[in-house]
Amino acid sequence: MTKDRPESIEAVFTKSQTSKLNKLGIHNLFDLLIYFPTGYEDRTSITSISNLIPGTKFQIEGEVKSCDVTYIPRKNLSVLVEDKSGSIQIRFLNFYPSQIKQFQNGGLVRIYGEARKANLFYEFIHPDYRFIEADEPLLEHLTPKYALTSGISQKILEKNILKAIEHVKKHNLFNDLFPKLINKRKFPGFIESIENIHHPQKKLTDTLLDASLKDYRQRVVFDELLANQLFFRGNYHKKNQYQAAKISLDSDIHNKLLKQIGFKLTSQQEFCFKEIMDDFTKAKPMNRLLQGDVGSGKTIVATLAAFQVASQGYQIAFMAPTEILAEQHYKKLTDWAYDLNIKIDYLSGSLKASEKKNISQRIENGDTDVVVGTHALFQENVVFNNLAFYIIDEQHRFGVQQRALLRKKNLKGNSFAAHQLMMSATPIPRTLSMSYFADMDISIINELPPGRQKISTKIFSESKRNEILEAINHQCSLGNQVYWVCPLIDESEKLDLENAIQTHRNLVNYFSNWQVGLIHGKMKPSEKDEVMQAFIKGNTNILVATSVIEVGVDVPNANLMIIENSERLGLSQLHQLRGRIGRGDKKSSCVLLYGKKLSDLAKQRLKIIYETDDGFEIAEQDLKLRGPGEFIGLRQSGLPSLKISDLSRDMLVLEEVKKEADQLLLSNDPLIEKYLNRWLPNHQNIVKA
Ligand code: ADP
Ligand code: MG
Repeated sequence: MTKDRPESIEAVFTKSQTSKLNKLGIHNLFDLLIYFPTGYEDRTSITSISNLIPGTKFQIEGEVKSCDVTYIPRKNLSVLVEDKSGSIQIRFLNFYPSQIKQFQNGGLVRIYGEARKANLFYEFIHPDYRFIEADEPLLEHLTPKYALTSGISQKILEKNILKAIEHVKKHNLFNDLFPKLINKRKFPGFIESIENIHHPQKKLTDTLLDASLKDYRQRVVFDELLANQLFFRGNYHKKNQYQAAKISLDSDIHNKLLKQIGFKLTSQQEFCFKEIMDDFTKAKPMNRLLQGDVGSGKTIVATLAAFQVASQGYQIAFMAPTEILAEQHYKKLTDWAYDLNIKIDYLSGSLKASEKKNISQRIENGDTDVVVGTHALFQENVVFNNLAFYIIDEQHRFGVQQRALLRKKNLKGNSFAAHQLMMSATPIPRTLSMSYFADMDISIINELPPGRQKISTKIFSESKRNEILEAINHQCSLGNQVYWVCPLIDESEKLDLENAIQTHRNLVNYFSNWQVGLIHGKMKPSEKDEVMQAFIKGNTNILVATSVIEVGVDVPNANLMIIENSERLGLSQLHQLRGRIGRGDKKSSCVLLYGKKLSDLAKQRLKIIYETDDGFEIAEQDLKLRGPGEFIGLRQSGLPSLKISDLSRDMLVLEEVKKEADQLLLSNDPLIEKYLNRWLPNHQNIVKA
């Protein structure tokens, strides 16, 4: 253990206590200190029984007057306690025989709990209680309440934490490492803050309590966000130390490509391309996230950049999370590269072994310029000749570790790092882009190409199927196409698949004059391709699909989408699915079908999807509903989570902290490492692409 590491909790606790604390995510003394209470109880005063208000927690003190086991309505222990102002009944529905002995007449007891009205009287049910001596002093601190796991009680945890604070004070641990930043803001000391948060000193009304805790919390929030920024911004600055291929604009290729695509870039597309080119000319590895709502046209921006890199003799890897999407990109890029002398290849796991080998060879020899592919591009035997740029579409679908693998792919004597462009159609709320994405630069396309119609969204109960079938019939007769989505929901993948197959069968039977296709993840890639091509060409009118079409698929002629079981999908997923339509110039509708029971959360989600089609707004709401842990898979990513700070509340602090972190990093402050070890003891092992 190095000296910087936070001390083990075993310095203060027994082995068995330690393992219990581990269950709460507390692995060292520092974790313990920042395991904050979720609330407080006021046991610093006594309320007269006659002043109790039902529904509010109070502490009373009185004498036991009687204690009986009664059987009405069922067996329970009923104790009468009296003070000067009156008496109250205490009831235990579950009790130990020892408790009958405990409640002896004349015993003096302090009780904390919430009184409720029972007939004419008040009663406490299962309150906290403690027998006391006459004149026993009251507590001077509020009592903290912690989130617990089994095997560890409030009392133990409170006691342990106080013990830890004493230990820390005695050994002078966790001193402020950047006192200038703290003094500048007149923040209280760290340990002082910790102590006050766990054990607020005085009896305070709620508002006063909030106010007094605010400074202490703010102090610790500042510290936590500083660690977050030192980590992510540290990554940012580190990458800037590498060399990367310098790419300057080849306007010949650029203009040819613009001619080839057949539409005019939106001004935001142009601007994003310019931001990428600015990075390219710096000869430092670009690390950029291109965000844009579904359908905003990210692919062409990435392609414009890719062809620039290709024109200067380097290779590009273009990754997509599904085969359908990768193939679609491959075809598009091949079309666009027509006559440009740029060689494009496609690599996916489902190709024949001989084909794969052949393509890998071409990649290694440098015979190909742009390789579009799936996860297969991560495989060990894929080695690039001269990789200078990689593009990751739908970046949240890839693990952080996977993305990091790509960086090691460039073996052939290149001393530079590749430029990286990630694309995401799940807009990342500003709070997250400031924190978890603080090691990237961000480009945003916040408009759709011209001529798009607003998608109208409807929410229907499953019982309205007939009306929906009628609507499908109508759209098909106008020459439009329809998606019917039966989402795959992990736990019962098999059942869901059956559902898609059954739905397909039903629709085939129902619509004799329309062609109905079926596509799902369990099909062979060649089958999927065939189905998809039939739909793209308009040979199929209706496509029944599982969520394989969730990302990226682009068929502008489709203008109606039915989503079954929509209540079971997340906000971002719904938004992604809905984004498959409204891509052409026709009026589009999305029908969200729901089953019988709607939970409150599901209602909330459907309401949001119904009310807005702004991806950024939806992402903010999604973040609020799910928290950053679940949002875009941060939890699985292994990235450090925030324990105390709340990004939406602490946004302003975050902005300030970012500046401070950048300064510390630029001055190479030697204490940064020590600071990170305190807050993120594993930070060196965290992979961040
Ligand atoms: P996404 O950002 O969701 O990946 P795509 O790149 O798939 O969006 O683009 C969606 C559709 O819009 C494609 O058919 C694309 O060719 C088209 N498109 C992109 N940019 C424009 C534009 N400026 N004008 C018209 N159509 C565009
Ligand atoms: Mg896309």
